[in-house]
Amino acid sequence: MSTLLVRNATLLATFDDQGREIPDAGLFVRDGFIEQLGSSSELPSEADEVLDLAGHVLLPGLINTHHHFYQTLTRAIPAAQDANLFDWLVTHYPIWAQMNADDIRISTQIALAELALSGCTTANDHLYMFPNGSRLDDEIEAAQDVGLRLQASRGSMSVGESQGGLPPDSVVENEDLILAESQRLLDSYHQAEAGAMTQIVLAPCSPFSVSQDLMRETAKLARDYGVKLNTHLAETQDEEQYTIENFGMRPVALMESLGWVGDDVWFSHSVHVNEEEVGLYAQSGCGVAHCPSSNMRLASGIAPVLDMLGAGVKVGLGVDGSASNDGSHLLGEARLDAGMRGASLSSEEAPPFMSGRQALQIATRGGAQVLGRDDIGSLEVGKCADFFAIDLNRLDYAGALHDPLAAVVFCAPVRADYTVVGGNFVVKEGQIASMDLPPLIEEHNRAAMRLLEK
Ligand SMILES: [Zn+2]
Repeated sequence: MSTLLVRNATLLATFDDQGREIPDAGLFVRDGFIEQLGSSSELPSEADEVLDLAGHVLLPGLINTHHHFYQTLTRAIPAAQDANLFDWLVTHYPIWAQMNADDIRISTQIALAELALSGCTTANDHLYMFPNGSRLDDEIEAAQDVGLRLQASRGSMSVGESQGGLPPDSVVENEDLILAESQRLLDSYHQAEAGAMTQIVLAPCSPFSVSQDLMRETAKLARDYGVKLNTHLAETQDEEQYTIENFGMRPVALMESLGWVGDDVWFSHSVHVNEEEVGLYAQSGCGVAHCPSSNMRLASGIAPVLDMLGAGVKVGLGVDGSASNDGSHLLGEARLDAGMRGASLSSEEAPPFMSGRQALQIATRGGAQVLGRDDIGSLEVGKCADFFAIDLNRLDYAGALHDPLAAVVFCAPVRADYTVVGGNFVVKEGQIASMDLPPLIEEHNRAAMRLLEK
């Protein structure tokens, strides 16, 4: 039994159903879960550990619904700086094919450290290439050292260039092996209980890199285990053209034909969807990982998020891989989302524009809904003690203290001073608490240089 008392926060934003924002507030945590929440004066006066957040704003931990951690090794590659998705992928595939298990481990820790410092407490990662003996286990083990909750997606690619796919044959896998590995990972790592630190997601990469058969078999396996399904969908016009030419259908219709719609499915991106497709998402329960930076960087377009929200689609936020962002600052992503004010297809259901609080709602509650978790995403009694806090007394927020929560999303994105997962400090006084970062950065830079030399 261990307890943590957090008190005196200038403002605590719960993101509960009432959207309560409580001044001079805090939390009392027992064994990783919130036992009490409210005004500091109403909380117990003692605990095993006490955190005084005077002068800080306190929010639920942000939830990242889409990432490719390994891409921290290939940021800003010259030949991919000014490319759209397909050319960008073709440039990167041969570089990624050189990665080994150590590269997966180092890049996982770098990406998670960046996320934690941006207020993130739960992250999905989509790993879909396993070159040179690397495995998803390498990522899962590396993540445990950092301390963020991980939704590890076992990705896959099985249709190489010679079969009409986009990736080179050297990076695709045999489908029987993909399914056997997926099952092994589900048996070894997936935790279903409240407060789970590791969950497995099954995630064939995209319509242009896997077969229809693998999509169907993967869905069957995921549903046997009651886990989530994810894939990239409707990201670019090139993809739309590919599915129309190869399958005679738009991307969303293709998914529907494969049984890939439902409450257990979320799609990364969904930039090129029409009103009818947004309606299908709403009706069937499909979620969306919205990745504004990546969509802008690759000139993919802007997802019609306001129509999705208006129609009742679950929308979460994602930084996407670090080679198309090129960072993992989730709070920065929320700021961009609010700054863009959303986009719409101009349907009647769409709200006029996105508010700053709505962008934070997508980054917290929205992400939890997309990942299918009701134990995270808001600060409420009974939920996981996952939160972050920012010191308001800083240059970046000068002049905005009349609305501390708005400062977090409208002012320049800053780093979290405290990030706590299940009552454990991942970031303390602005530093990663669980690891020594400078040698890790050095090692990561060496690995990145090595990949480029080949
Ligand atoms: Zn992606």
